[in-house]
Amino acid sequence: MLGMPVSHSLSPAMHNAAFAHLGINAQYQLFQKQPQDLDVFFAQLADLRIEGLNVTIPYKEKVLHYVTLDRTADSHLQEVGAINTIVRRGQALAGFNTDISGFTKDLQEKSIEVKARSIAMLGAGGAAKAVIYALARLNAGDITIFDIDAGKINDISVLIKRLFPGFKLRAAGSVEELNIPHKDLLINATPVGMKAGDACLVKKEYMHKGLVVYDLIYNPRETVLLRTAAGAGARAYNGLGMLLHQGADSFEYFTGRPAPVEIMKEALENAIARLTH
Ligand code: NAP
Repeated sequence: MLGMPVSHSLSPAMHNAAFAHLGINAQYQLFQKQPQDLDVFFAQLADLRIEGLNVTIPYKEKVLHYVTLDRTADSHLQEVGAINTIVRRGQALAGFNTDISGFTKDLQEKSIEVKARSIAMLGAGGAAKAVIYALARLNAGDITIFDIDAGKINDISVLIKRLFPGFKLRAAGSVEELNIPHKDLLINATPVGMKAGDACLVKKEYMHKGLVVYDLIYNPRETVLLRTAAGAGARAYNGLGMLLHQGADSFEYFTGRPAPVEIMKEALENAIARLTH
């Protein structure tokens, strides 16, 4: 995995367990690189015997110009402008985005219906972009977004309106304006909730029994937002499933073999348990 920082990553545990399970002689390693070192790193990929690579913050957009996008799974990858998976194919590098497919698969696995549903979104950063694109592609009814940086909401709006003309995407100026009591789904794509003592961004009285709350955070497994949502009778899910499925999809691109999803899930859960004890 390429990123900065990368030391916190749970991906080595998940991928190395899968390699071991299938008897594949490969190792998943972390590469923390400064922006000015990327040219040299990509020039050396073959020498380093790197066949595949995940990319995380802050490089998901920057690495685009090193790859040819593989649009078999996603015809809008160029417009979305972010990838998290690279596979070496001879002299060329193919780029994919498994955040989008991973989130989509997790929704399906959890039977979270989004078609024609009204959705509130906290955060408009990199992960939100993949999630909102996936939701628009699944014919969500409408999405309202709040982020402390209004410029980021604007960037996503421009993208979505270009790709899905007529799609109802609105900016909220505050959490109150998200109108959560009338929403079907609330998604947190901010980092708020990762640190102990983080405040809950949404008041308990806004949550309701018909609401599904999906927090992209997976460590801790239950954020204050999820605890509050569950306390109000809402269905609450963390981001572990998205992490797992993006990893499984990347693994299939890396190896050309079906991912042992249960093995990867167990490895992820063990890695999180080790972090929290
Ligand atoms: P990011 O690019 O930094 O985006 C987060 C956005 O939230 C930023 O625009 C940030 O604004 C905004 N924000 C911060 N505090 C806020 C607040 N109190 N109210 C409203 N907006 C606020 O980060 P990211 O890469 O999208 O990741 C977001 C979260 O998703 C992280 O917790 C990450 O771990 C998680 N994630 C999970 C998965 C998964 O597979 N489950 C995948 C990717 C990411 P500023 O930049 O102005 O602070």
